Amino acid sequence: MTSLRSGAATDTGQVRANNQDAVLIAEPVFAVADGMGGHAAGEIASQVAVESLQDSAVSSLDSLVEAVRDANRSVWQRASDDPELHGMGTTLCAIALVPGEAEGGEQIVVVNVGDSRVYQFHDGELTQLTDDHSLVEDLVREGRLSPQEARTHPQRNILTRVLGNDSDVEVDSWLVDPYRGDRFLLCSDGLFNEVDDDKIASVLRQLADPEDAAHELVTLAIQGGGRDNVSVVVVDVVDHDGPGAAAATVATDAPTTTMGRAPGTASMAAVEPSTETGGGGGGAAPAPATTPPASARASAEPAPSTRRVTWRSVLFVTGVVAVLVGAAGAVAWYARSTYHVGVQDDQVAILRGRPGGLLWIQPTLAESTELSLDDVPDGRRDAVLRGKEEPSLAAARNYVESLEDQAEAERRRTTTTTTTTSTTLPLPPPPAPPPPR
Ligand code: MG
Repeated sequence: MTSLRSGAATDTGQVRANNQDAVLIAEPVFAVADGMGGHAAGEIASQVAVESLQDSAVSSLDSLVEAVRDANRSVWQRASDDPELHGMGTTLCAIALVPGEAEGGEQIVVVNVGDSRVYQFHDGELTQLTDDHSLVEDLVREGRLSPQEARTHPQRNILTRVLGNDSDVEVDSWLVDPYRGDRFLLCSDGLFNEVDDDKIASVLRQLADPEDAAHELVTLAIQGGGRDNVSVVVVDVVDHDGPGAAAATVATDAPTTTMGRAPGTASMAAVEPSTETGGGGGGAAPAPATTPPASARASAEPAPSTRRVTWRSVLFVTGVVAVLVGAAGAVAWYARSTYHVGVQDDQVAILRGRPGGLLWIQPTLAESTELSLDDVPDGRRDAVLRGKEEPSLAAARNYVESLEDQAEAERRRTTTTTTTTSTTLPLPPPPAPPPPR
């Protein structure tokens, strides 16, 4: 019996607001879907697809292909029913462990629609099993674009086949013999657009735990820019005693043996994809889509030059923040750069800041005084109540001193007046004028 061990990781990345990828771990089926569509539509598309796949009974290549077509119908129906979801779609790549043709044997079925990928890591070599259904990959297959040019082509996000675009979809499928030690990698384009195949192979070589490997690959994609959602599923073949076991052992014992597949078995099917179409017919090599459908990803997702746009955005935001911080600092400086003589708890006080405060900055007590508001001379009380601004603490103190002096003078005058008006003693005679010299 073949046993599988799996690990998965997914992340929104550094640029996107939400994660429109979805992963499915539902042994014997594993899948990655990469949704597209405005607002939450992409998220819904990929989720509907994997949930539909999860509900399907998969026991053969045909049944997995049929399950993907069912998933397509589910996404298409949902988009048709809800105008807000119109135009949504999703990629879907999946593998499933199914009974093989040989007695007691098992095989891995690989299916794909879109540009999420399935790789096989066998004998230390990483091989891409699926073909991308994208405009640039069509051009690469036609020899009109090099793989290097395709990696950075501005239209590399335009897909020629997705789930949800029509009521039926063409599904590419492959059969692969599983060998102990093989690893299958399913991923969205957020991985391979950021991390090259050599680096991916290096991680799969070094990290034995599939969970660790999946997380490391996602981390590398984020470090590489994280311009898209990134999802990774790693499925390990940990035991196998089916028809390929002996060859696998040979491959392990003798590293120079190529691939180690049992001769004449389904290994050819792993190279030549079969195709299921809406009519249920299949078996032919996949016919590349001749006309890109209107649901090209470019219509639903930002242009791929996100790094440049992002850095501009970052610079812009940084600039705006710097201006705001500078303006706040200037306001704070202005608000705190002065003193005023005002009132606190019916006592005259020296406060730092503008009378009444400025925006969010309220004046604070600098010094209290012994002078009560009642003692302030009538003619100056209004000024104190409004807050008498002074350019410095020393100036404010001088103002308070002048208030105290005036208050004291008035107090004395009042006392004198009172004393004068309360006595009955006659005024003394005026002094005699000085004699003339
Ligand atoms: Mg993507």
